Amino acid sequence: MEKNNNHIYRKQLVLEQMMIEIFDAVCKKRRCPVCGDEIRVYIPARYRIDDFLTDPLSCPACESEPRHRLLALLLGKHGVYPHPRRTEGRPFRLLHFAPEMGFLKAFGKHSGLDGFEYHPADLDAERFQKHGISVRKEDIQRLSFEDSYFDLVICSHVLEHVADDRMAIGEIRRVLKPNGGTAYLMVPKASNQPLWKVPKLGRTLEAPYVATDEQRELLYGQHDHMRLYSDDFIDRLEGFDVEIVAPADFLDEAQMDYYRIGESAGEIYVCRKA
Ligand SMILES: [Zn+2]
Repeated sequence: MEKNNNHIYRKQLVLEQMMIEIFDAVCKKRRCPVCGDEIRVYIPARYRIDDFLTDPLSCPACESEPRHRLLALLLGKHGVYPHPRRTEGRPFRLLHFAPEMGFLKAFGKHSGLDGFEYHPADLDAERFQKHGISVRKEDIQRLSFEDSYFDLVICSHVLEHVADDRMAIGEIRRVLKPNGGTAYLMVPKASNQPLWKVPKLGRTLEAPYVATDEQRELLYGQHDHMRLYSDDFIDRLEGFDVEIVAPADFLDEAQMDYYRIGESAGEIYVCRKA
């Protein structure tokens, strides 16, 4: 009986939320900070009524999720998005690992202009070929770039898929320029996910006995995740000066509503190489 009430309550919440979205769509226009398109409403990624409350709301034009919009806004605040900083003839190099389509298009447009070099890279570079986009095949644990080559690295929701994430973080540090080279890292953490989805231990969960897709789904929240991070993720960022930026650190409530960004978007680890 209680389960039934719960179900009805959930449906009511979904309907209320849908009414709010429809009202917003009629009354407001929003600009997506990733692709720059003017849109009426963000939509749930999976179009299932039960997912409406928990699914990230995506941009219908570029499929940006809240965490992408958060990243775009912080990069914009730091003067590197959508127009990368001009450096008066000196090259400005960006390594973008597992690039999201909205960012890929925006950065791609400026690549080669004013010394800006955009280097999108992915372990599965082939998946971009069908879009006619050239992305370099790279294993983040063994990057082929020389030391101190990049001004900027962007790497969002990648490290949780990597077998040896400490090795990958070491590689990011190696290819960054000293004295200011900066990495923007994001990882899914237990604190940003619903309680019913993942366990909350207060420390990163990474167990050697977890070996199957089913076990990973159950413990880490996704079948292809190698661990479930917690706030101790920062301990892995050796050799960096780290600033953790949460949505409320630079957006007010009205902005968070306008861009549909909640606390579940997570935090951005801004890592400066010493
Ligand atoms: Zn968009």
